Amino acid sequence: MPPSDPPLTEPVAREGTHTPGGSLGHVPGREQRAMAPVQPTPGEPLLARVARARDAQEAWGHTPFPERVACLLRAAREMLQRRQELMALVAEEVGKVEAEALFNEALGPLDAVKGWASVLAPVLERRRVRLNPLSFPGKRAYVEAVPRGVIAIIAPWNYPAAGLYRSVFPALMAGNSILLKPSEYSPRSSSWFAELLASRLPAGVVQVAVGGGEVGAALLDARPDACVFTGSTATGRLVSVRCAELGIPCSAEMGGKDPAIVLADCDLERTVAGITHWALSNAGQACGAIEIVYVERPVAEAFVDRMREVWSRLRVGPGHGASTDVAPLANERQFRLVKQHVEDATARGATVVSGGAPLGEGLWFAPTLLDHCNDTMSVVREETFGPVLAIIRVDGPAEAIRAANQLRYGLGASLWTSDLARGQRLAERLDYGVVSINNHAFTGAVPSLPWSGTRATGFGVANSALALATFVRPRTVVVDRRKTPELFWMPYDQTLVELGNVLADLQGNRLGRAWRLPGLLRRRMRTLRAFFRRRRSAELR
Ligand code: NAD
Repeated sequence: MPPSDPPLTEPVAREGTHTPGGSLGHVPGREQRAMAPVQPTPGEPLLARVARARDAQEAWGHTPFPERVACLLRAAREMLQRRQELMALVAEEVGKVEAEALFNEALGPLDAVKGWASVLAPVLERRRVRLNPLSFPGKRAYVEAVPRGVIAIIAPWNYPAAGLYRSVFPALMAGNSILLKPSEYSPRSSSWFAELLASRLPAGVVQVAVGGGEVGAALLDARPDACVFTGSTATGRLVSVRCAELGIPCSAEMGGKDPAIVLADCDLERTVAGITHWALSNAGQACGAIEIVYVERPVAEAFVDRMREVWSRLRVGPGHGASTDVAPLANERQFRLVKQHVEDATARGATVVSGGAPLGEGLWFAPTLLDHCNDTMSVVREETFGPVLAIIRVDGPAEAIRAANQLRYGLGASLWTSDLARGQRLAERLDYGVVSINNHAFTGAVPSLPWSGTRATGFGVANSALALATFVRPRTVVVDRRKTPELFWMPYDQTLVELGNVLADLQGNRLGRAWRLPGLLRRRMRTLRAFFRRRRSAELR
């Protein structure tokens, strides 16, 4: 950024009893992570940032696409080089363990930029549309995708940098400027990402406003040109309603609670490994985390036994480097919710197969496997967003699919089976945005594959060309070479009406009065010529 630019965020000085920042995976205590608070962006500067973003957008929007991509590639390369900074921040701010900080946050920006460039290039090309020359003589038309302007991006905390790729990269690449409102739980990690981008792009194109829901709401009131929201269903609905009131297009990607369906013929080892990973990655704090398993009875005992064995070997709790598998919860709010859900399930008859309680003094919660769950329990009905897996035993795939299709959310689902053809047939009956066979959720980071949902997950689409309507709008340009007035333009007369009726008959393949067409056309043109002929002023009087 040029020296005249104000900082994107204004951290306040550390104070009081904060535990000093430490190594990766360091957890300061249950009440508060060790970061100094970041001061919310007040209203006035927020408006000024939207105005700056708007000013900067004009030139950026006219910068050729390859140059925009090149700027983003340079930024992504720098992010990769400086990855240790981001990894330390996400460990400190939201408690990520080292492998996840590396693989899920730091490793992907270059691939993401390249992937988005391939998705966007054909969409941004001007597209000629052929018009029927008989109906539209002398005319040609093309359609171009133009940037919307300033995109507000309201984000959650669970993937504070990588979770932004799918909105920030396409928004900027399409020629928009952005105003990012990160979660109040991860302002530093998200701002690190945004500030690095800002330093590689023209001044003003990337803006950040930090703070909680009130800053998000004020950002919408500042009337950006579109909004991408990612977060809970409750907030997403509020944001969508507000955007509708303001007439702003909004894409809302909301909650998830993914089921996995384990069929009797599955490869048990891969199934156990895959479900373990996708239930516990990021301590289960992922919209695409597996939270429920429907397992066919013939394989249920073996599945539960293997899961117990594997989960008991995972390393949980404060650790350094690669010595921890399961992360702590990111914040106290999440910690309390997970505890409540587990207590509710056990009170309603679930059996604790492993875990079931907090571990130690920090925000660690033992990976918790609950058997014999049912749909009266919060762990089945609501999003838990933690290291908890509810197991429901079923008689067969039909029962599992029926139950899965009745769950509140509809983001992702997976089927685990050795019969791939049957798996595909069953996948077609799952009312979910992303269905995987023998895997889960990894496509969330693939720019070419739509990431979307049904039911309470909302209808927003992230990733792929289908997501681009939030970032670009179509502009149709029509060019007419004709010099004479169109036949149907004013003034109207009886000839025009007769002409219309003959044309209607012809469209319905009734040729009866077609012979009249040339005569009517000639008469109509004569009328128009006479009407529009220049008259001398004496004649007009
Ligand atoms: P959240 O809804 O609490 O907050 C999301 C963002 O909205 C935050 O930046 C918050 O400050 C802001 N916000 C709150 N009130 C607002 C208002 N009135 N107006 C404008 N902005 C407002 O969600 P969270 O706890 O940060 O994130 C976790 C949730 O995100 C989970 O439900 C998870 O499933 C979901 N999520 C979904 C996806 C997806 O792709 N579907 C991806 C990641 C996370």
